[in-house]
Amino acid sequence: MQTLPHYLNGQLSAGQSQRTSPVYNPATGEQSAQVALATADETREAVRIADEAFVAWSKTSPLKRSRILFKFKALVEEHTDELARLISSEHGKVFSDAKGEVTRGLEVVEFACGIPHLQKGEHSMNVGSGVDSYSMMQPLGVCAGISPFNFPAMVPMWMFPIALACGNTFVMKPSEKDPSTPLRLAELLKEAGLPDGVFNVVNGDKEAVDVLLTDERVQAVSFVGSTPIAEYIYATASAHGKRVQALGGAKNHMVIMPDADLDQAVGALMGAAYGSAGERCMAISVAVPVGEETANRLREKLVAELDKLTVGPGLVDGPDNDMGPLITREHRDKVADYIQVGVDEGAELVVDGRQTTVDGAGDGYFIGGSLFDHVTPSMRIHSEEIFGPVLAIARVASFDEAVSMINAHEYGNGTAIFTRDGDAARQYCEQIQVGMVGVNVPIPVPMAFHSFGGWKRSLFGPLHMHGPDGVRFYTRMKTITQRWPSGIREETNHFTMPTM
Ligand code: NAD
Repeated sequence: MQTLPHYLNGQLSAGQSQRTSPVYNPATGEQSAQVALATADETREAVRIADEAFVAWSKTSPLKRSRILFKFKALVEEHTDELARLISSEHGKVFSDAKGEVTRGLEVVEFACGIPHLQKGEHSMNVGSGVDSYSMMQPLGVCAGISPFNFPAMVPMWMFPIALACGNTFVMKPSEKDPSTPLRLAELLKEAGLPDGVFNVVNGDKEAVDVLLTDERVQAVSFVGSTPIAEYIYATASAHGKRVQALGGAKNHMVIMPDADLDQAVGALMGAAYGSAGERCMAISVAVPVGEETANRLREKLVAELDKLTVGPGLVDGPDNDMGPLITREHRDKVADYIQVGVDEGAELVVDGRQTTVDGAGDGYFIGGSLFDHVTPSMRIHSEEIFGPVLAIARVASFDEAVSMINAHEYGNGTAIFTRDGDAARQYCEQIQVGMVGVNVPIPVPMAFHSFGGWKRSLFGPLHMHGPDGVRFYTRMKTITQRWPSGIREETNHFTMPTM
């Protein structure tokens, strides 16, 4: 059985610990490898390497750093199919979706290539007589990233391209469920010319993470994962004086107004609810039709579309399936349990994905798309994140009721409204307490040059990920106020508060 290693100081490095975690192919249920789980000492060694590499990397000119990222971009493009196959074989998502993930990650690399411009700071001349003021955006030092299973390429690429471009060094702790893609990205960074030690991958679990949250050499921690762990990460790393951005779970609603183009809304909902088997933090898991007639027509159309949904392995010879398996057997069972919870709570199970059979699925972790109707805010299938292909219809009588229901939810990651009415859309954007909003766009993931992040219990920390917030997160501002000799020659003693 292959043991997936760490990546330290520019090379793959077998772990010293005896602890490992199994890695499965979710489409077959077979174990494909095991991954080494780093000890605290091994993780400290990764931090030491990154700390040592920071001295030279932070002084490398932004242009040179950017050129390495340009090469990395070209290499990732060249290896997109290989990376997508790796993602699909460990995560289970269908090949085209895996390629889409690589592309969305690459967009952040493209953004980071502009770092000579992004990191310029500001300059004002003559803020006082003979006095200039300017700011520097300096790198922080060693930064750490901890990522979830559902985007093994894209989420690490939300973090490290900007961190490295800004002159930081990095220790990445990927999900232990699908660690191969980040290891391959590390090799491609080296091939692109990144000096050894600047980017390191430590595979592991809580033992490794706890070092990254507490070691005094780590300056900043970026985390993406479930909300309970995000809260722990935020509290622990903040208490140890680090900058933290911790993105958590989600429950995303799509409001369908009576005037919406229903065919368009249903097409969008199908992809947003069932794409990647619902294992996306921006997946729509609650449809909120306004008015009974809208709800009845929406339900009818969704049932017809669900009948056509194809479920099967992520890697096939012919055209892709719509949806692959879930990540693990435990997670598939958890999603099946949630379906039972919904039934027990009194929601109407219109389509039961537990009944879906997949040809040749073997022991793969498959479950079909499910649809509930008459879901109410007090039900657990509304309040909790299921993270599977389960869509709930929560009927409301009015726009105001839809807004109140969504604003009362503890999560606030993404949401969408489908309507032809500009006023309704505008009111929605203004009133809704959610970080990312789509107007006739079902999954409003911001482009790399904007920033990504939710509100409420979907994000802990002030700064969102990538885009301008990403550059702010990975740099520290220093503001210099300077006066040159002629000013000093004229200096006399001042004992009052200096004012410009
Ligand atoms: P997870 O919280 O179980 O794991 C995330 C990371 O934390 C992994 O690297 C894992 O090894 C580590 N981890 C797990 N338990 C830990 C512990 N006790 N102490 C320290 N570290 C620990 O999440 P997951 O199941 O991999 O991913 C799915 C979750 O991620 C969902 O809740 C989803 O909504 C969320 N997610 C959010 C976003 C976003 O942008 N808000 C994006 C993607 C995924």
